[in-house]
Parts: sequence; C-alpha cells; structure tokens
Amino acid sequence: MRISVKAPAKINLTLDVLAKRPDGYHEVEMVMTTVDLADRVDLTLRDDGSISLDCSASFVPDDSRNHAYKAAVLLKERFQVPDGVHVYIDKQIPVAAGLAGGSSDAAAALRGLNQLWKLGLTLDELAEIGAEIGSDVPFCVYGGTAVARGRGEQITHLTSPPPCWIILAKPPIGVSTADVYGNLRVQEIQHHPSTANMLQAIQEQNFSQMCRSLGNVLEEVTLNMHPQVRQIKELMEASGADGVLMSGSGPTVFALVQKEAKVHRIYNALRGFVKDVFVARMLGVPEGGNACHNTYGN
Ligand code: ATP
Repeated sequence: MRISVKAPAKINLTLDVLAKRPDGYHEVEMVMTTVDLADRVDLTLRDDGSISLDCSASFVPDDSRNHAYKAAVLLKERFQVPDGVHVYIDKQIPVAAGLAGGSSDAAAALRGLNQLWKLGLTLDELAEIGAEIGSDVPFCVYGGTAVARGRGEQITHLTSPPPCWIILAKPPIGVSTADVYGNLRVQEIQHHPSTANMLQAIQEQNFSQMCRSLGNVLEEVTLNMHPQVRQIKELMEASGADGVLMSGSGPTVFALVQKEAKVHRIYNALRGFVKDVFVARMLGVPEGGNACHNTYGN
C-alpha cells in the first residue's frame, strides 16, 4: 500500500523575534502561509518493520538526520507500530532556503503515516508530536495561514490572505538558520514588524496593507551576510513588485503582485540573475496554477 502526500513550502509574511529565552530558543511571532510550491512525499508500507528513505535530491540526508525519517521513527516508537515504511521524497522546494522544506516533509510524513498505519490521531496531536522534530513542523501539519508564537509551535489559524501571485527567488547559497539566529542581537533590533497590522490586512483582505505590513527581523542579518540577497530584493522592487520580503532566515526572497503582467516582468528580470525562480500562488486560493520552475538563466 502506498500513500502520496503533498508537502508545501511556507513563506513568512512577518517574522518578529521578541526575546531570547533561557532555554536557548527565541520567542517569535510569525505570520506564515503555505504556497503551491511543494515536495511530494510517497509512503510505502514495509511489512518487515523497518524504516528507509530516499530523496530525489542526493545532497539531502537519507538517514535519521532527515526530518521525515525522524517523524516515522517518532510515530513508530510512540505507538509501537509493528509495520515499517519506505519514504520517498520528490524534492521541489529548495533546501536550506527559508521555506521550511524539511519541516513540511516531516509534517507530510506525520499526516500520511497517520493514515498508512491507521493511528487515528488528530491534527492537533500530530502537531504536538511534530514540535519535537522542529519549531516549524506544527504549522506545516495544518498548512494554510496562521500566526505562530512561542518558539513557533503555538498556532492560531487565520483566514487566507488576499489572492496574489508570489515570485520566489533563491540565490545559490544555503543559509543555516542557526547561524542567522546566532548573529541576531535581539536588543538591537531597530524595526519590529507589526503583527497586528498584518492580521488586520488579512482580516480585511486589504492587499496594499498586507504589502506594507511585510517585515522580517532576520532580513538585515542575512542581507549583511549575503549581499546577493539584497540585490535580488532591489531587483524585485525595481521591477514593480507590490511587496518584497525575505522568507524565514533566507536566502529566498519573494515578491507579491496582483497583476499577472507584473509576474512576467519580475520573472524575466530575475531570470538572468538567478537560476532558482518560482512562480506560485498561496494555497487555498482558487485558480492557482502549479508552481513552475525556471530552468533558464545562469
Ligand atoms: P526553515 O525555514 O524551517 O528554517 P529551511 O527551508 O531553511 O527550513 P530546510 O530545507 O528544511 O531549511 O533544510 C535545512 C537542513 O535540514 C538542510 O541542510 C538538510 O540537511 C536538513 N534536512 C533534513 N531533512 C530534510 C528534508 N526532508 N528536506 C530538506 N532538508 C532536510
């Protein structure tokens, strides 16, 4: 028996860090939404009880370091599941990109294994287990749009943001989330995004206010480490993007636009500059095309 589960990428519409906690985690407040750029996680039942994993991207770990593998081990041990599973990940989401690809694969494995192994767990229970793998996993278990607080595991669901196109560009560098947080001085943050303004923009379906309310306190840190990320931002802004922001700890930058003509202009401007460019829609938005991957460029 085999189950295929979609594992969508997320983007941060806001990312605020409020404090560094005594346990070493940061207290965050983030508005996140899933987009239709997704990995596919195939789960095939193994009756020998073992867990194995393959990934289409050879540089992604295929052992107990893989977040989807960790999800399978956690469920198997906690619920004493006699069956095993072979996990195959068809990787479409860029790795170490600020798009929560690994967390989303883990969440997809949790949701899929809940079915495959007939565990009967609720999404809340899966999210709680997911928090043991990583702070973004609970959000990925639910998908959609939400504000995440605490270390990211406390989720409040939101209505979908106003419909728009998203152009994502990832420069050819991997960014370690731990390094970015390590370089952040919480007391020295100059501009905190207003989560309240973003929540109001989403509630009122106000696209302009949503664009004005975009903000990520990690952006300055990553921009200083990787000037190329700033260049991509500036290129998107100069090409007419309505809103531009780096997602998570980067280096992926995304542009929000409502007019389709602008999608083409921004896409073409980026094409000669960076290889990984994707056009996506927010999930839950009708008439969203499948994310397409630019294979042109350098
Ligand atoms: P986040 O936004 O949650 O910080 P990210 O998008 O920046 O995540 P990932 O793509 O999840 O980063 O990869 C981070 C690291 O996790 C990679 O360097 C990789 O070695 C490891 N990893 C473990 N499992 C996976 C997976 N299933 N897919 C991608 N990377 C994974």
